[in-house]
Amino acid sequence: MDWLTNFHSHCFFCDGCAPMEVFVHHAIAHHMNAYGISSHAPVPFSSNWAMRKDDVDEYLQEFHRLKQQYENQIELYVGMEMDFLSKEKDSVFRTYQNLPLDYRIGSVHYIDTLDNGQLYWNIGGDPKNYKRAICELFGGDIRRMIRRYFQQTNEMIESADFDIIGHVDKITDLAERFYAHQFDPNEPWYLHLIDETFSLAKEYGKIIEINTKGVETKHRTFPHRRHFRRIQELGIPVMVNSDAHKPDCITCGFRETYQTLRECGFRTVRILKNNRWTDMEL
Ligand SMILES: [Zn+2]
Ligand SMILES: [Zn+2]
Repeated sequence: MDWLTNFHSHCFFCDGCAPMEVFVHHAIAHHMNAYGISSHAPVPFSSNWAMRKDDVDEYLQEFHRLKQQYENQIELYVGMEMDFLSKEKDSVFRTYQNLPLDYRIGSVHYIDTLDNGQLYWNIGGDPKNYKRAICELFGGDIRRMIRRYFQQTNEMIESADFDIIGHVDKITDLAERFYAHQFDPNEPWYLHLIDETFSLAKEYGKIIEINTKGVETKHRTFPHRRHFRRIQELGIPVMVNSDAHKPDCITCGFRETYQTLRECGFRTVRILKNNRWTDMEL
């Protein structure tokens, strides 16, 4: 593999831990060939991790300054990680659909289940809130919660304009760690559920991100490696990203993940190169 890339990263414009330029310095120091900035797009409610609406112009300006400054050292791309809230409430994709971005990552972080639409619950947050959500929003039924997450993901694939599905099975992270007595990811109902999402990804021409953020801490990727063979059988393009929030994490978990993909039959990964989607040999 002769082209090192990462297209999922955060910085001071959202909840990343350093200025955009520091991430670019690290990418160059790691001999990356292409690097993508993908801050969380602003959401229509208060959030301590998404970009502020007023900062969007500055985000693009800062990116273009860096792209020009480092053009001889690295290919830089700008995207956003966009939250799909629900078919009715999808204001994030709609609001930013005309922004001049190189790519868009579509992710579900918030499950919106209350009729009054007031409560947006972040699936990646505190395990206590996860427990509360199972009890209060889904009547204690973890399957209902997981089904709701994939339903929202499917709606995003069918109705929103984006390129890459971010961490497609993130909902199962805490389920597998804390609710193993209630949730077995090898059961047919779940495999069928996630397979529907993979089939839609294929039908709508989306790239499935293999997110390595949890490789060192949780010993897993999103999606979990147990699904790699199925994704490969379906012929869906994949892209390996680290979802870096810290400059030190821009290649976390890459080596073992590329190896596992090879073992599961993948021959290529999809990347941006010379401003075009390209399949790079593994
Ligand atoms: Zn995310
Ligand atoms: Zn992210």
